Amino acid sequence: MVLGATGSVGRQTLEVARRLGLPVTGLGARSPSRQLAEMARDWPGAAVAVAGGSGDERREFSAGLGTGRVDFGSEALTALAASSGSTVVNAVVGIAGLPFSLAALQAGNRLALANKESMVAAGQLLRATLATGGGELIPVDSEHSAIFQCLVGEDASAIAGVILTASGGPFRGWTVEQLETVTPAQALRHPTWDMGRRITVDSATLVNKALEVIEAHHLFDIPFDRIRVVVHPQSVVHSMVEFVDGAIKAHLGPTDMRMPIEFALMHPRRGPGLVNRFDWPGVNLSFEEPDPTSFPALRLGFEAGREGGSAPVTFNAADEVAVEAFLQGRLGFRGITRIVAQTLEAVEHVDPSGLEEIMSIDREARMAAAALLAGAC
Ligand code: MG
Repeated sequence: MVLGATGSVGRQTLEVARRLGLPVTGLGARSPSRQLAEMARDWPGAAVAVAGGSGDERREFSAGLGTGRVDFGSEALTALAASSGSTVVNAVVGIAGLPFSLAALQAGNRLALANKESMVAAGQLLRATLATGGGELIPVDSEHSAIFQCLVGEDASAIAGVILTASGGPFRGWTVEQLETVTPAQALRHPTWDMGRRITVDSATLVNKALEVIEAHHLFDIPFDRIRVVVHPQSVVHSMVEFVDGAIKAHLGPTDMRMPIEFALMHPRRGPGLVNRFDWPGVNLSFEEPDPTSFPALRLGFEAGREGGSAPVTFNAADEVAVEAFLQGRLGFRGITRIVAQTLEAVEHVDPSGLEEIMSIDREARMAAAALLAGAC
C-alpha cells in the first residue's frame, strides 16, 4: 500500500517492491495523472485512491482504468490506509498525510512513515494510537531509520542521546548576505540527496532538520535536550545514538532512499540490498556545528518542539505556505524562516486533543502565514 505513490519516495517504494517481489495492494495519490494511471496498469492488483481532481479529470481517469478500480476523495486514501493486514507506506507530502498515518495505526497496520509531518504535528496522538492499535511504526526518513537500526537490541534506558546528521544543504558556509539573493533553482540543487521539492528547500533552510528533531523526539521518546544536530556534509553517517556508557553507534551507507524503504518493508529481516555497495577508499568524514545565524530555523524548531501542543503544527503549516511562496518567486529565501517565526508569534498556542483540532490549527496557521506573506510582499 503506497500513499503518495507518484512522489519521490512513492516511486522508489514501487521500485523496491518490484525488485523484492512484494505485492502492492493499493496506490494513493493527490491527483489523477498519467503517471498514476501507468502505475495502476503496472500493478493490476492494486486498488487506486485519488484525493483530488475536477469532475472531468476524475471521469477521464476512471474511464481509462476500468470500472471499480478507483475511488476518489481524501477518505478513499484513509480507507486504503485502514485495510487491515497491510504495510502502509505513507509518502504523502505535508500535513495532508496525517489522517492516513492515524488510520493505518488505528487498524493495527505496519506504518512505514516517510510523512514526517504526521509525527511533528501529532506525535502524542500517533504514539497513543500505536500503543492501543497494536500496529507497528517504522520510520522511512533516513536519519530516523538509522536511529531505529542503531536501537535494535538495545534497551531504551541505555540511550543517552541521539545525534542527527545534516548535510547542511546547498548553502552550507554561506553568510546571511549571500543568502539574500538565493533563487528557487539554487535551493532545489541538493548536494547529496535526491528528493521532492518541498523537502529539498526545507533542507536548504534547515527547517527539514528542525522537523526531524521533533520527529525523533516523538518516535524515540527522547527529550529535546538529548537531541543534537551536527552538520556532516558527506551524508555518509545517517545518524547516531549515544549510550549511557559513552559508546556511540552510527549508521553509515550510501545516500539512497531505497535503503530505508527496503528496511521498513522487510523488518525484522534484512532484504538483499538493492543499491551499490558503499565504496570506502577516498572517503573522508567531517562534522561541524550548524550555523545559527545563517540558519535560524533549527533553533526555532527546537523551541516549537519544546513548547509542544500546537506550536509544531504551526511551525510546519507556516513553512509549507512559505516554501510554496518561495518556489513561486513571491518570497525570498530568508523570508521562509521569517514567516515561520512571525506565524508562531501570531497564532495562539493551544493543546490540541485530536485530529480535527490539529487540522483546524493547521488551517488557522496557514491563513496567518498567508496574511503575513500578503503584508510582506
Ligand atoms: Mg531525512
